[in-house]
Amino acid sequence: MKNISILGSTGSIGVNTLDIVAQNPSRFKVYALAAGKNLSLLTKQIDIFRPEVVSVIDDEHAQRLREMLGHPSVPEILSGDDGYREVASCKKTDMVVSAISGAAGLSPTIEAIEAGKDIALANKETMVMAGELVIARAASRGVKILPVDSEHSAIFQCLKGHNRNEVRRLVLTASGGPFLHLPLERFVSVTLADALQHPNWEMGRKITIDSASMMNKGLEIIEARWLFDMDIDKIDVCVHPQSIVHSMVEYIDGSVIAQMGVPDMRGPISYALSYPERLQETFGTLDLCSAGPLEFIPPDSTKFPALELAYAAARKGGSAPAVLNASNEVAVEAFVEGKIRFVDIAFIVKDVLDSHQARDVSRLEDILDADCRGRAMAREIIEKRIPA
Ligand code: MG
Repeated sequence: MKNISILGSTGSIGVNTLDIVAQNPSRFKVYALAAGKNLSLLTKQIDIFRPEVVSVIDDEHAQRLREMLGHPSVPEILSGDDGYREVASCKKTDMVVSAISGAAGLSPTIEAIEAGKDIALANKETMVMAGELVIARAASRGVKILPVDSEHSAIFQCLKGHNRNEVRRLVLTASGGPFLHLPLERFVSVTLADALQHPNWEMGRKITIDSASMMNKGLEIIEARWLFDMDIDKIDVCVHPQSIVHSMVEYIDGSVIAQMGVPDMRGPISYALSYPERLQETFGTLDLCSAGPLEFIPPDSTKFPALELAYAAARKGGSAPAVLNASNEVAVEAFVEGKIRFVDIAFIVKDVLDSHQARDVSRLEDILDADCRGRAMAREIIEKRIPA
């Protein structure tokens, strides 16, 4: 029996993780859950999975949750950063599913690593912001980091059993999002509703907008760079609108190994939870004969400048990827609030990145500092752009 803690239980990854736990009650037990403010879903999860520890965003929500549950002693209810840290590091947990969205997921994930917990990693920002540090700490603690991002799970599977010295390049597939075929001149009038229409994957709001701008793929190349210790220039992106091939590894003899499956996050989640074993699938199998033609096309960097920005940040190194991520989070938020246009997201990230002097980030504080600076610079630029 594996005890699992989930950081971000009410988000898309959290919900899918709990579905797998429910299908495999003899293998997994939910020990602790951390959520934000979605108390109505959290109370349902508590009723079904009976965790021993739960944490929410702040004291006010913790108090409301106690009132909603009516039985104050079980589970133990915590709140805030201390609560998230407790969920990430509690003694009886074997594996932590890191699925809080955005930069907020970094600190609790590091806490879990320090406590020696294996990580099922869905929070890509952890690797984008702090890849070098996270990989080093995981190695020194003997912690396994199992990718949950579908592309990285695919590459992880394609590398298994092969000689790492024989890898020529990694190819991350990208769906291309809702604007793959949108003419360039129409990008200026993209609305929030347009950006939230992802063709293949059901995901949270931030990642769906990042998929529409392809910044999600940009963050993923940086994530892959650290997860697989691969030179950034050996990581390529190929647009594959059907999202059947989840990613590929090319070897020096020209052989390419691809991992395929239906586009359902329960695939990569269940592999991370049960690794090195595989679980019985419960969400539908891939029938290639009825899947229709599979297309592969190069990404268009004019329509999707975010991709090149991510390569640039990765090559700069140091604090640059954390600043890229921070400025993108602020810009996406401003787009969601209607303050800027969709195309402005990339302009803002570029402005911030161009004026940022990359620094060494060997400590977590350096990374959090870079994150703060990136946010402040992005906010400043957004204020200037908004007509008074
Ligand atoms: Mg992905």
